[in-house]
Amino acid sequence: MPTTNKPTTLALEHLQPFLQDRAITPALTAQYNTSATGPWSQTCWTRAAGYLLPQTVAELTQALVKFKHTHARFALRSTGHNPNAGFSSADGSALVLDLSRFREMELTAEGVARVGAGCTWGEVYGWLEARGLEAVGARQVQVGVAGFVLGGGMGAFPNLYGTGADGVRSFQVLLADGRLVNANAHEYPDLYRALKGGGTNFGIVTRVDLETHPLRPIQYTIELYSPDDYMEINKATVAVQMAMEENPKIGLFTNFNDGVVAVGMFYADHHPAASSPSASASVFTPFHDLLPRKSDSFSFNAGLTPTQSTLSTLTHSI
Ligand SMILES: Cc1cc2nc3c(=O)[nH]c(=O)nc-3n(C[C@H](O)[C@H](O)[C@H](O)COP(=O)(O)OP(=O)(O)OC[C@H]3O[C@@H](n4cnc5c(N)ncnc54)[C@H](O)[C@@H]3O)c2cc1C
Repeated sequence: MPTTNKPTTLALEHLQPFLQDRAITPALTAQYNTSATGPWSQTCWTRAAGYLLPQTVAELTQALVKFKHTHARFALRSTGHNPNAGFSSADGSALVLDLSRFREMELTAEGVARVGAGCTWGEVYGWLEARGLEAVGARQVQVGVAGFVLGGGMGAFPNLYGTGADGVRSFQVLLADGRLVNANAHEYPDLYRALKGGGTNFGIVTRVDLETHPLRPIQYTIELYSPDDYMEINKATVAVQMAMEENPKIGLFTNFNDGVVAVGMFYADHHPAASSPSASASVFTPFHDLLPRKSDSFSFNAGLTPTQSTLSTLTHSI
């Protein structure tokens, strides 16, 4: 049972008439446990004083007003995917403001995707792909749109269209003084610039307007190597990254873990009819040369076979 304090208790009391069963106190045991253990990382199961799930900007504004009046502390969560305790989780001294109900997805006539702050990239990729489109998003489906772009946003093909933050046309933001503003190249341009990778404390982002691009067929593989081969793996990483300077279709991640090094090799092939599997595979030769050395061989895909897929399936594979 979390130890609440006067500000959080007061804020909860004030917000219950607005949010009703979406103001979740420890007394609502089942809902409370669902919210407390929602994040995949158990480091974030810290049991807040309560979990608040507004579903409109008006409700969100009410919550902010009450926090200010009561001096209640709060953490903001869109998906809770960030594993750092205290980022989108709180202990019993504070509340969690959970934006997971902000789920709008709308495509404008100009091809801009307006996406609610509570959406995950898996949801956005699937929705965009049904429309023949994609956007620069995370390499894992459960990552949230809001935290991703606010942190800069490294996609599968960073040299193709830039970072996730580069792809944001506009942020809808609730400011601390209760104003809902759009931050973009024309309105609040300083805020727009700050939000593009500058972090999460400039306001509550309620919606993100994203550039979209025609859906690309892509090729990918993930290979696992022994950490004993770290020198060769580092050299291969440098070689492929040098090639990326010339060829924006290349995507790579090298992920050192306890006992295994995972290397994701991606290729964005724009013209499937003219695709050349051998050309795409050859850019990863420095890694393929390592294959005979890898220990404990296990790969999700056998080499960079010319299997064509999409961002959605790639991100579901990771
Ligand atoms: C398995 C895994 C894979 C990942 N893959 C990638 C990747 O491919 N590329 C990449 O760049 N990053 C990646 N990340 C990192 C990820 O982008 C960050 O953890 C990001 O903070 C997650 O954002 P979220 O909205 O899902 O999470 P949350 O935990 O909900 O929020 C993260 C932070 O953002 C703040 N925040 C959330 N929503 C809002 C909002 N609407 N307004 C203001 N602040 C808000 C929260 O308060 C918190 O501080 C990965 C992380 C993991 C664990």
